[in-house]
Amino acid sequence: MKIGIVGAAGRMGRMLIAAVQAAEGAALAGGVEAADHSEMGADLGRLAGGEAAGVALTSDPRALFDTSDAIIDFTVPTATAAHAVLAGETGTVLVIGTTGLDAEHQAAIGAAAANAPIIQAANFSVGVNVLLGLVEKAASVLPDIYDIEILDMHHHHKVDAPSGTALALGHAAASGRGVKLDDVACKARDGIIGARPKGEIGIATLRGGDVVGDHTVIYAGPGERVEIAHKAASREIFAGGAVRAAMWGCSQQPGIYSMKDVLGF
Ligand code: NAD
Repeated sequence: MKIGIVGAAGRMGRMLIAAVQAAEGAALAGGVEAADHSEMGADLGRLAGGEAAGVALTSDPRALFDTSDAIIDFTVPTATAAHAVLAGETGTVLVIGTTGLDAEHQAAIGAAAANAPIIQAANFSVGVNVLLGLVEKAASVLPDIYDIEILDMHHHHKVDAPSGTALALGHAAASGRGVKLDDVACKARDGIIGARPKGEIGIATLRGGDVVGDHTVIYAGPGERVEIAHKAASREIFAGGAVRAAMWGCSQQPGIYSMKDVLGF
């Protein structure tokens, strides 16, 4: 199975090159970057910190979609929306890890899913997908006197906040409570804000250092506190999950799928 990487010189892109090379039954179809990227023409194997792979970084996504069975995209929202259009035109499987997408980007993905299998997840690790189920369950069992707060910490390069995973955890908690996150979320607090409204779901963002991704969901009740946490120690967990999703996607009909579908939860 031929897998191409867009955003191949990024932090995740380099991990994804190595993950495709290591996956049994997968071959690296190529890698694409933004046209002005300083590594243009570099060998993909070298970019990933290994032996030369004999495949050079290019800036032609259309050619990569034409020659790949699946494409993995951890880039930026505008690029991901453009890649979704290419997936729709070519029917190529598209795995989307990019976060911070708005309604317009999401609409482009939805339209492309009529013609291509698309697997989209804010977090491709198995552990976080288990966490999503636990968070929903805990929120459904604990009464709403337990205040739900979500904490997200990431490295200082991260551009979107809260993290896509923190938002996914918020949606899971809200779903457990039978409400919509948009109706109860509080993403910033500053000044004299008054008492915490009952039923609110707070999401706090920390950024610093080289933290790969830490998330904690806190249920603060009377006399006790329940905390469910996940800490990512390496980006390999996301890359491995994304490659698994790409290979799974090749036997699926067009549509939008989640990592839960891939894992069979
Ligand atoms: P990064 O900035 O290191 O990499 C992004 C890459 O995309 C850069 O190399 C950039 O040049 C490239 N790019 C930009 N525009 C492009 C275009 N038009 N065509 C091709 N490439 C283009 O960022 P990162 O840390 O690798 O994260 C990338 C995205 O993945 C972020 O949205 C991040 O939140 C997300 N992410 C998701 C998961 C997950 O499991 N879903 C895990 C980690 C990161």
